[in-house]
Amino acid sequence: MSKMLTKEDLAKYPFLDQSAAFIEGYNLTLSDLSAPAYSGIVGRAVERVRCSIEGGASPLQLGDPETEILSYPLALALVYASRVRWLVNRFATFEAKRCEELLKMETAPKLAEVAKASFGWRVGLEDLKLEWERLTFSLGMAEYLEVAPQFHSPSWKLTNKYVDRGRVFLDAKDFARLLAENLKLRIIRKAGEEGVKDFELPAALQPHLGGIAGLLEGKRQLYEDEFPEGLVDDARPPCIVAIMNDLSAGKSLSHMARFAITTFMLNVGESVDGVLKLFGNVADFDEGKARYQVEHIAGITGSRTKYAPPKCEVLRSFGLCAEPDRLCATVSHPLNYYKRKVRAGAGAKAPTGGEAPTREGRVKGRGRGAGAAGVGGEKGAQGRPR
Ligand code: SF4
Repeated sequence: MSKMLTKEDLAKYPFLDQSAAFIEGYNLTLSDLSAPAYSGIVGRAVERVRCSIEGGASPLQLGDPETEILSYPLALALVYASRVRWLVNRFATFEAKRCEELLKMETAPKLAEVAKASFGWRVGLEDLKLEWERLTFSLGMAEYLEVAPQFHSPSWKLTNKYVDRGRVFLDAKDFARLLAENLKLRIIRKAGEEGVKDFELPAALQPHLGGIAGLLEGKRQLYEDEFPEGLVDDARPPCIVAIMNDLSAGKSLSHMARFAITTFMLNVGESVDGVLKLFGNVADFDEGKARYQVEHIAGITGSRTKYAPPKCEVLRSFGLCAEPDRLCATVSHPLNYYKRKVRAGAGAKAPTGGEAPTREGRVKGRGRGAGAAGVGGEKGAQGRPR
């Protein structure tokens, strides 16, 4: 453990690499946590998730740092296993805010250490006094630009920052904000990774997921328009099938076709990585550029607005309404077509691996192994969600 970071720091910032090492020292699996001896950890994990849903405070229990540290990955596992994107975003925002408040109280060296130990940022400690502010940190331009475009305020634009030899200078408040936002992005992006998307909790912990589904019930209106995770092939409207066929054939698409397929896929629950994979065959594919655009359209970066696919009349005017079928005659939007087919039972095949989550966010089925999540997951396997 870094000499500067204490066990209390790991409790405050359980996403640090040192926290992962600390947890690994316990050699626990998610299933182990269902034993009565660990009920305090499970209770705290559920409380973290509950507070993120209800918006209440979740006071740190620094008198029991082990419970704080161990409950974080379990809380993340519960969130990912719920398969409710609204909850993933909500939990990520909640943790980022909690983290930001704590970071604002730290000394500059401690802040720099947390940035290094969590995200590997190369932070410089500075003491630059400008007429109107004091800049204590410097950060590489690439690291800054990975996060700062999330913020709307013009003060975050590079042109409004003091930049010297490729480094962006920041005061402590902005630096804490940037760090917290990066944590949020990391939690949201992780949800789209293979192994996390279809992660299921061990059976012994499933009842806690049921409890969370109960809490989500009151927020149903906020997320009930979400589709099941992953694409239900049989429910795709003909226009989307045609665009996907072109992509598989490596054809270059028009701007509108790219926009239509990207927005459609994101709105039916596909992850950013899943969308990027679709474009893998296209000759002029540039992953960095495409990721930026897809995340922008998904509302993860930039304006934070998640874009909807164009209506049928727009697609028609761009020549993208391919071979409409009988159902097409009754809809005005490709998502309505998809929704109706899903509700009519299209796609007996479940989305990407595993079984479909229910509308309540409860994961049906077998309580498969811990996959990519958990306090060490099943013994000997995989990392944890961080
Ligand atoms: S009518 Fe609408 S949903 Fe059907 S193929 Fe045309 S654009 Fe797609």
